[in-house]
Amino acid sequence: MSEKFIPLSVPNLKGKELQYVTNAVETEWVSSGGPYVNEFEEKIAKYVECKGAVACQNGTAGLHIALHVCGVTKEDEVIVPTLTFIAAVNPVKYIGAEPIFMDCDDSLCMDSDKLLEFCEKECSFINGKLINNKTKKHIKAILVVHVFGNAVNMEKIIRIADTFNLKVIEDATEALGTYYTKGKYRGKYAGTIGDVGVYSFNGNKIITTGGGGMIVSCDAELLKKAKHLTTQAKIDDVYYIHDEIGYNYRMTNLQAALGIAQLEQLEDFIRIKTENYRLYKRQIESIEGLELLDFNTNIRPNYWFYSLIIDEYKYGLNRDEVLVKLNDKKIQTRPIWGLIHQQKPYLDNPNYKIEKAYYYKNKILNIPCSTNLSISDIKKITNVLKDLKEQ
Ligand SMILES: *Cc1c(COP(=O)(O)O)cnc(C)c1O
Repeated sequence: MSEKFIPLSVPNLKGKELQYVTNAVETEWVSSGGPYVNEFEEKIAKYVECKGAVACQNGTAGLHIALHVCGVTKEDEVIVPTLTFIAAVNPVKYIGAEPIFMDCDDSLCMDSDKLLEFCEKECSFINGKLINNKTKKHIKAILVVHVFGNAVNMEKIIRIADTFNLKVIEDATEALGTYYTKGKYRGKYAGTIGDVGVYSFNGNKIITTGGGGMIVSCDAELLKKAKHLTTQAKIDDVYYIHDEIGYNYRMTNLQAALGIAQLEQLEDFIRIKTENYRLYKRQIESIEGLELLDFNTNIRPNYWFYSLIIDEYKYGLNRDEVLVKLNDKKIQTRPIWGLIHQQKPYLDNPNYKIEKAYYYKNKILNIPCSTNLSISDIKKITNVLKDLKEQ
């Protein structure tokens, strides 16, 4: 009997997706006109309790626009994490600005203590501008990533941003549904605390539109500007008058139809992901040399991705060996990303005291986390992990 393939992270489309998409097709509203796009924006804004939302083609496009509306130009620098997906950083280069790479802490998110140290020791604050001592360039913004549905320490980030007059962009592409349960931002959703936040609805994210993104902000002006830029910067609908270089980034009605159906299930998905995480955790606890990375305790995470940390000396196999052995058993896993400051397009960009990112880069394996995983799938995976240890 051939073994069942267990994928890493796949969509779950068992709600009203077909009904809404069929409606979009039957009414022949398939492009960026059509009622679902506005409705999806309103529903996301309501869900994350934000002033408004602007739908776009994908998270990458959303981040590009987020940098634009924060006033980042080609003269500027932007502080970014090195441990992330490259789509968080590329938009900085689309603008022509330059990224400066920061380390992560044990939550895998940007280390805010090192960030503060960098701002204090390596920069000067002159006339309300943070200037990088080495390059003499203006650092205009911090772009943080809520990694795997965990949450950045936004209290510290915002304090630093206020001190040095920096804009804050939240890449919450992986963290829709995560909110703080303690502290200053208790009750606030990841993505809604900085100047602009961005969600992604790529196929592997917690909800999907095939491909899609959403820009959120509590600043009505920024939202207006974002809508303008994502829709070709047109100021007159009849005569085609444009006042700047815009983009064709608007989401389509077909995508939004999927998105609304997915959003209806988001809390169920989070509940399932939480239960699956706990089951994995119980099973993995007893295996020496393996650990499932915790989420922060001051949040309600969306539990999007699960990170297995492998201690190769205690476990007997290293991360890449485990990947191959699980693959042989038709269990799909992925190592965490390659660090961005080590990627070819970024070799000349500055980085600051990167340490932990190297450690986690070599130790983490992401294991299957789809909402349609069964209990027996999880037990199969953890039993394979137990067996590998004993061999
Ligand atoms: C998925 C993702 C993006 C990009 O989103 P797309 O919708 O795929 O363009 C950006 N940053 C991070 C951290 C992501 O995981």
